Amino acid sequence: MSVDIKELYQEVILDHNKRPRNFRVIDPATHTGKGFNPLCGDQIEVYLSVNSAGIVEAAAFQGEGCAISTASSSIMTELVIGKQIGEIEALFTAFETAVKAGQTSDELAHLGDLSALVGVREYPARVKCATLPWYALQAAIHHASGAVESEKE
Ligand code: ZN
Repeated sequence: MSVDIKELYQEVILDHNKRPRNFRVIDPATHTGKGFNPLCGDQIEVYLSVNSAGIVEAAAFQGEGCAISTASSSIMTELVIGKQIGEIEALFTAFETAVKAGQTSDELAHLGDLSALVGVREYPARVKCATLPWYALQAAIHHASGAVESEKE
């Protein structure tokens, strides 16, 4: 990776950290999931509003975290809006593989701003910061709570 590309990636992360997208609570949300990274102290909650066709209509997050986890949450919420749950699972797998194992730049191109975070694999301690929102998202998807349903009770 050239120095220029690294700088570009850093800019993407700084921008998302400074102005996080979708930094709010969705209420009621159809899915919510929490993530906590004790190594860094990152604590985030992810909210989804999924329609009956299984498409994410809104995604948002709240919490406190370092620049990497905040940027990753911001980028993730932007990416998943308008996508099917199945597509999100594939995205998560691609990102996790990229961060943990490395990938070619061609494959990274499909990940958009997410590819900016792949640089963290050079800093193993920060990998958990980058993947944290995705684990919270997985938790939200797989423990579909139905905040909407529980309101009826
Ligand atoms: Zn962190």
